[in-house]
Amino acid sequence: MGARTGEAYLQGLRARPREVWVRGRRVDDVTAHPAFARPAAHIARLYDMQHEPAHRDVLTYASPTSGERVGTAFMMSATVDDLVKRRRAFQTWAESSFGLLGRSPDFLNTTLMAFAESPGVFEEMGPRFAANIRNYYEFVRENDLFLTHALITPQTDRSRSSKDQADAFLHMGVVRETADGIVLRGARMLATHGPIADEVIVYHLPGIRPGEEPYAAAFAIPVDTPGVRQICREPFDEGARAAYDHPLGSHFEEPDALLIFDDVLVPWERVFLHARVDLANRMYTETALRNHTAHQTGVRAIAKMQLAVGVAMAVAETVRCNGFLHIQELLGEAIGYIELARSCVIRAEVEHERTAAGTIRAGFTPLQTLRGMMSSAYPRIIEILQKVGAGGLLMMPTAADFASPVGDDVRRYYRGAGEISAEDRVRIFKLAWDLAGDAFGMRAMQYERYYAGDPVRLVASNYTSYAHRGECDRLVAGALALAGRP
Ligand SMILES: Cc1cc2nc3c(=O)[nH]c(=O)nc-3n(C[C@H](O)[C@H](O)[C@H](O)COP(=O)(O)OP(=O)(O)OC[C@H]3O[C@@H](n4cnc5c(N)ncnc54)[C@H](O)[C@@H]3O)c2cc1C
Repeated sequence: MGARTGEAYLQGLRARPREVWVRGRRVDDVTAHPAFARPAAHIARLYDMQHEPAHRDVLTYASPTSGERVGTAFMMSATVDDLVKRRRAFQTWAESSFGLLGRSPDFLNTTLMAFAESPGVFEEMGPRFAANIRNYYEFVRENDLFLTHALITPQTDRSRSSKDQADAFLHMGVVRETADGIVLRGARMLATHGPIADEVIVYHLPGIRPGEEPYAAAFAIPVDTPGVRQICREPFDEGARAAYDHPLGSHFEEPDALLIFDDVLVPWERVFLHARVDLANRMYTETALRNHTAHQTGVRAIAKMQLAVGVAMAVAETVRCNGFLHIQELLGEAIGYIELARSCVIRAEVEHERTAAGTIRAGFTPLQTLRGMMSSAYPRIIEILQKVGAGGLLMMPTAADFASPVGDDVRRYYRGAGEISAEDRVRIFKLAWDLAGDAFGMRAMQYERYYAGDPVRLVASNYTSYAHRGECDRLVAGALALAGRP
């Protein structure tokens, strides 16, 4: 089949009704529901881009098995040019949503590619499990399916492990094995795009403890599998927000859901890992998942930072506070984060690593550094935007005010510096509010803090597993040698 069109994706959603709940009501057709229709339309747009002459060569490549054009994120890299092609594909999709779609399909397509490229932990489970992951990777690639994932246990009691929660299956675990597969019960979070995905893949962040074997499972199933239930967070936009008032929030909201597994049977051919705490913990590092996914997320994050910093500069220039030295310093600091991120991505491609499969992947250290930096850099950029725009950010009238009896007042008192009209100033400040004040922007910020797991432990790992420690120690030893001894 190969790369899908947007219409094929939407038809697929309609053909497979799933159990989705929002505001206490069950949703019949997610493509027609006001909370999901716009996100689904944007995902459809990404699929359509794969067929446009301007993007086709970057966004797709020839499948090694079928010869069909398939998504570039599935491509393993033989050369640096392949890594660059992957980066360009990530960038092309990311810029179409200004980096605001965190979980575009290329994220989990990349994950599957990483698993297929380095299947060591699945091979240790047995040949059948290695075949399962390989077959699943090819199945998703050839059918261009959209995946969501749920890696985290619900925040019931973080001081206890999964087995010690008030109920043994609050956290999703395997209730029993049958001849047909494993049966799962309990909850997982946080499935971004779950309501409009085709399939869900479940695996782990490292940190599962011995004794938690029933909770160590990696598998993938269609989201309409009987017993899979999704409870969505409150939507910010249910189709009622005007584009002028919420230019970003009305276009790029990503739905998020808690997944409940109500005794769900996962057939053996969809089980990748099971009952092995050691392998579940090693899976992340040994599949080099962090290299591959951080290449995609880093490129996407650059687009998001460029948007936010661009908006901050436009806000400052609109009311001419950009002449003040501290505003320039803040904007200069924000620009620095963009350039650091760009440098990390390019360095990762230059300092690529060779895999056991004979392929190459972007280097770990710069990408892990970037991943850690983003958790504080993006919130800092948003803080800078808040400081540059100050109280004006939240003072903006709506599109309706321009056409009302107070329209002349609005046009007079909301104008910007020089020739900048009220319409233009309000437009820019509303863009800023969507990023720096509105619930949509707060989610987008929380996303950068947490999408890669807990930033505290992540940044701490820069120290505990620093690959270039020897270079620091050598210089310290040299400097100490200067001091001699008393
Ligand atoms: C907008 C958004 C979208 C997301 N999308 C997805 C998705 O699509 N799929 C997915 O799987 N996940 C997704 N995530 C979830 C993300 O992976 C988690 O939020 C992240 O791993 C942190 O887990 P938590 O939220 O449960 O926080 P917790 O782990 O409960 O952390 C809460 C606080 O306690 C501290 N803490 C907790 N445990 C420890 C510990 N053992 N040691 C030290 N400190 C600790 C943390 O530092 C933090 O300050 C998303 C998150 C957000 C915000």
